[in-house]
Amino acid sequence: MSYPSSMKSSSTEGLVDLRSDTVTRPSAAMLAAMSASPVGDDVWGDDPTVNELEARTAALAGKAAGVFFPSGTQSNLAALMAQCARGEEYIVGQKAHTYRMEGGGAAVLGSIQPQPIDNDPDGTLPLARIKAEIKPDDSHFAITRLLNLENTIDGRILPPAYVLEAEALARGAGLSMHLDGARAWNAAVGGGVSLETVCAPYDSASLCFSKGLGTPVGSVLVGGEAVIAKARRTRKMLGGGMRQAGLLAGACLYALDHNIERLAEDHDNAARLGRGLGQIAELELDSVNTNMVFVRMASEHCAPLGAFLKSRGVLAAIGPRTRMVLHLDVSTEGVDTTVEAFKAYFAGR
Ligand SMILES: *Cc1c(COP(=O)(O)O)cnc(C)c1O
Repeated sequence: MSYPSSMKSSSTEGLVDLRSDTVTRPSAAMLAAMSASPVGDDVWGDDPTVNELEARTAALAGKAAGVFFPSGTQSNLAALMAQCARGEEYIVGQKAHTYRMEGGGAAVLGSIQPQPIDNDPDGTLPLARIKAEIKPDDSHFAITRLLNLENTIDGRILPPAYVLEAEALARGAGLSMHLDGARAWNAAVGGGVSLETVCAPYDSASLCFSKGLGTPVGSVLVGGEAVIAKARRTRKMLGGGMRQAGLLAGACLYALDHNIERLAEDHDNAARLGRGLGQIAELELDSVNTNMVFVRMASEHCAPLGAFLKSRGVLAAIGPRTRMVLHLDVSTEGVDTTVEAFKAYFAGR
């Protein structure tokens, strides 16, 4: 790594960090690409690197246009606000990031009413439940406007046939469709299909670069010209209009060139971690989905195990149901270190 020494102070540097795929650091090559990016004032539409990123991402997703956001949270919010007016509602999963993890932004800032539905264990929203929540045209009800899906969700790829059925249902009822595709590239690589195929059913899709693609920040919202033009206005209102943002977009262009196909390595590492942990009697392997591994354990282990792992150079958010996330800063050796550390902890019990 060729960081200036001021960037080396992080207490987590060098650890096998499985807490999230957001914890990656830009590689020396990514930093070089960033600093070599031509820039301009993006609010004026002048930044060539941002313009290239928006166009390339839109093309990869099979959409007409794209707009660069500082975060996936803001990108999702702008997409909802572009498609739902004040007093309208969107149908969303209880476990969906947009509903649960974004501070209630759609309601708070968009005056959009969420209509949450319990996710099935595979992450899908039961079609019959969606149908039951689409409100008739009656002045008692908010106007149901949009269906929000997330893919991957908890690392799970939504079954393609399910998505097509959900699309048919939504279209039949006149609803728009938004994809929270923070990990849509994991769905594409893991499912062996193109990003365009993953995004095809949706009017808008929010694609994160700061997860598996490994950039410091950034999401691109893609969709039709009209939706993206509205979202661009909303981005400015939300304070997301950035100036020489080409420095950040340069990281994203680097990631498009170098960090997509390699997601398969993260999926392989997740499978390897799952196999290793599956051998430990005290752990129940819950599931391995693309780049995520879920294990269950008795709660008495959580605090001491977390501390023990850290003493072995492994960081994980240990809980009764522990999620571990693979990414480009965790190597196969890091996976093996993790499995050994888990085994050592339980051997010492
Ligand atoms: C990370 C994430 C987002 C956006 O997160 P930001 O930190 O705001 O970029 C949105 N949806 C899902 C499913 C995510 O995992």
